[in-house]
Amino acid sequence: MTEAPPFVERDVPIARLTTVGTGGPAAYFARPETTAQLRDLLRWRLAEGVEMAVIGLGSNLLAADSGFDGLVVRLAGELAAIDRDGDAIACGGGASLAAVVRRATEWGLSGVEFGCAIPGTVGGAVRMNAGAYGGEMRDVLAEALVLSGDGERSGGADDLAMRYRGSNVTTGEVVAAARLSLTAGDSVAIAATVRDMQRRRKEAQPSGVRTFGSVWKNPSDQLGAGQLLERCGLKGYAIGGARISPVHANFIENVGGQATSTDVIALMAEARRRARKEGVDLEHEVQMLGPIALPGD
Ligand SMILES: Cc1cc2nc3c(=O)[nH]c(=O)nc-3n(C[C@H](O)[C@H](O)[C@H](O)COP(=O)(O)OP(=O)(O)OC[C@H]3O[C@@H](n4cnc5c(N)ncnc54)[C@H](O)[C@@H]3O)c2cc1C
Repeated sequence: MTEAPPFVERDVPIARLTTVGTGGPAAYFARPETTAQLRDLLRWRLAEGVEMAVIGLGSNLLAADSGFDGLVVRLAGELAAIDRDGDAIACGGGASLAAVVRRATEWGLSGVEFGCAIPGTVGGAVRMNAGAYGGEMRDVLAEALVLSGDGERSGGADDLAMRYRGSNVTTGEVVAAARLSLTAGDSVAIAATVRDMQRRRKEAQPSGVRTFGSVWKNPSDQLGAGQLLERCGLKGYAIGGARISPVHANFIENVGGQATSTDVIALMAEARRRARKEGVDLEHEVQMLGPIALPGD
C-alpha cells in the first residue's frame, strides 16, 4: 500500500464527529485544508481501494458501532471559507450553514435565512438538499464544485438533480465548494427573520439533546413522518439509551449519552413496522455510515 498523505490520522472515533454522538472508530481520518490536499487524498484512496465518506457536521448521520473501515474526510481551512462576491457568497463545502447565515445577515444578503435552522455544512446541505421554512438549498445554489478521485464536475441544482432531501452526489464525491446566489436586502429585516425562525424551531423541536434531525422523510406534503409516528403512539418510546422524542416523533434522542447506534436502529425498525401497519412505507432521511443496516431497506 502506498503511504497515506501525512495529514491522515488513524483510528479516530466517529462518535465525536456526529451530533447524535454514537458510532465506532474510522480507520482513517483527514481534514484537508486546500483543494490540492483534497485532490491528493482522493487520488490516494481511489488508488488503494479505500472506501470513503465525507462528514460535514455529522448532523444527519448514523455511524455503525463497529466503526468504518475506510477514510472519513472533513473539510477544513480554505475548504470551509466564506467570502462575499457581489450579491453571491462563495463557500467551501465545509463551511457551516450557521456561519454562512451570520455572514449573509451582516452583509445584508437575503435568501439563505432558512439555513439558521439546519446545523450542518454547505456541502452536506447540497448533498441532502437541506431545507426549512419553505426554503431549500436548490433555491440558492448557483454552482457547486464536486470532486472525486478521478475527476471533477461543476453544476447547479438541476445538474446535481437536487430534490426533496436528496441529490445525485454519490458517496465517492465531495462537494468542495458552492456559490450561493442571494439578493440584496436589509440586515435588520434579515436578522429579524432569522430570529423568528429560530424561535419557531425551539418551540417545535427538541433542543439541548443529541439527535440527528429528521429520522424519516415525510411520506407526503399532507402527512408528516412525526405526525404519523405520534399517531402510532411512539412519542417517548425508548430502546436502550435511544428514545423517540417526546417533543417531536420524527426525532430520536441519545438520552444521557447512553445510546448506541444499534439502539437507534432497533427504534427505527419498530417505527417502520408500526408505520407499515398504517399502510405507510417510511424512507429514512438519516444517512448511514459503515456496516449498519435498517431491516426493510
Ligand atoms: C437539531 C437538528 C435539526 C435539523 N433540522 C433540519 C432541517 O430543518 N432541515 C433539513 O434539511 N435538515 C435538518 N437537519 C439535518 C441536517 O442538519 C441536514 O441534513 C444537513 O444538511 C446535514 O449536513 P452535515 O454537513 O451535518 O452533513 P452530515 O450529516 O455530516 O452528512 C450527511 C450526508 O451528506 C454527506 N456529506 C456531508 N458533507 C459533504 C460534502 N462536503 N460533500 C459530499 N457529501 C457530503 C455525508 O457523506 C452524508 O451522506 C437537522 C439536524 C439536527 C441535528
